Amino acid sequence: MYDAIAFDLDGVLLTGYHTAPAVYRRATVEALTDFEAGVEEPPAALVDPDDAATARRLCERFDVPAEPYWGYREHAATVLENDQIREGEREPFADVDVLETLAGSSALAIVSNNRHGTVRFVREYFEWDEHVGAAYGRAPTLAGYDRMKPDPHYLRTALDTLEVDPADALFVGDRLSDIETADRLGADSALLVREGERPDGDAQPTFEIASLEDLLAVEPPAE
Ligand SMILES: [Mg+2]
Repeated sequence: MYDAIAFDLDGVLLTGYHTAPAVYRRATVEALTDFEAGVEEPPAALVDPDDAATARRLCERFDVPAEPYWGYREHAATVLENDQIREGEREPFADVDVLETLAGSSALAIVSNNRHGTVRFVREYFEWDEHVGAAYGRAPTLAGYDRMKPDPHYLRTALDTLEVDPADALFVGDRLSDIETADRLGADSALLVREGERPDGDAQPTFEIASLEDLLAVEPPAE
């Protein structure tokens, strides 16, 4: 058994590949309006920036202070998405029930590129607190945005919280970037391919699984 198993959130524990783009569009418009930017249709690059540098550059163009604007935008998106989750638009996959059994032998964590406020909300709302000892999403800062996976920052933070060495941990994700995240930290990885196609690319997961229930039979490979 692994000392710790960390899970990606979107597409692994919670239905939906990621936060709906409409959430970020609305959050961006709300934030720009409150900062009196005078922009009605924000550019796509500000709604979904590639990185913090892009967000900073566009904030400068619209004459809004980048850091406070970003914190506002992330908070607005969190409020919107958490409301959608309460309304049932995103829900746990049925096989998430297996967490209770897995928690009997491994410490569990959630590590997501989603916002920390939504990750924390989800853990509490679906009453996973008892089984999931650490939950990290991206911090609502521009620096936090640049630390998203495949940067192993948040996975490292979660394993530190659980006091587990990455070599004794498994990270479960549905994207090849999740596999790369685990590789970069020296953890094993499981690629969850729920249905349909395996994502294309070079990353080599330690395991490939079709359901979270497959984790019950997973053992660390012998040295
Ligand atoms: Mg995912």
